[in-house]
Amino acid sequence: MARVVKNRILVNTRLAANYGGWMYCDRCKENIGYLCYSTYDNLELNYTCKCGSKGLALIEFEDGKRGKKCSDDLITIKNRFCCPHDNEPLITILDQKLKSYELKITCKACESIYKKREK
Ligand SMILES: [Zn+2]
Ligand SMILES: [Zn+2]
Repeated sequence: MARVVKNRILVNTRLAANYGGWMYCDRCKENIGYLCYSTYDNLELNYTCKCGSKGLALIEFEDGKRGKKCSDDLITIKNRFCCPHDNEPLITILDQKLKSYELKITCKACESIYKKREK
């Protein structure tokens, strides 16, 4: 079922589809990650690409939940960050392509908000 996007802000970033798929840096055209379509609620990704470009991807849905704070860490299954409560795959970040990033993503299934920061 298609989801209705409330906010979608992409800065120096290209996304393969409306709210999911491969993500690309708009300057060097490298893919920087993959966003799963149906398992997340809100996304905020700030990053600096290896090419020096600073990018932002922010997506919120009309029916999105507010989410609840969670201090657990995302787990990695086959290169993909997943929710540790229900193993839902959320996002892949190709960190070898990035200098740094800051990620905030909400799991749709359990409404936990995960934060991750790499420098
Ligand atoms: Zn780049
Ligand atoms: Zn979850």
